[in-house]
Amino acid sequence: MVVFIDVDNTLIIYRTGSIHPYWSIAGKPLQPNIKLIEKLERFEGDIVVWSGRGREYARRIAKMVLPETLRYQVDSKLSGFHQIKPGDIVVDDQKEYFTSMKEHGVHIFGPFEDWEYPSKKGGN
Ligand SMILES: [Mg+2]
Repeated sequence: MVVFIDVDNTLIIYRTGSIHPYWSIAGKPLQPNIKLIEKLERFEGDIVVWSGRGREYARRIAKMVLPETLRYQVDSKLSGFHQIKPGDIVVDDQKEYFTSMKEHGVHIFGPFEDWEYPSKKGGN
């Protein structure tokens, strides 16, 4: 099972006027989506962090916000959605792009939605 994590407004949240911006890009304050990151730390499948802004952007942001111990891959969304398989999870603030995949058994969630995942511990 793979979870595909979008970057902008999913892994990181842009907040104009935020009181405690984590850092900023081009003057826009933003902060990591802590709850999502904590969930990824507990997730036992594969993690792909990807962005429509490209693989290097995804890598840059992932390095900034994800723990060094977390294993993940980075990719560009332009690589294509064909790599998403039934049973995989997609977390994205623009869920509408993935709606058609629901009928193929892909689980689609917004950045702040809770999602369940099977644990390898205890077997299947
Ligand atoms: Mg986004």
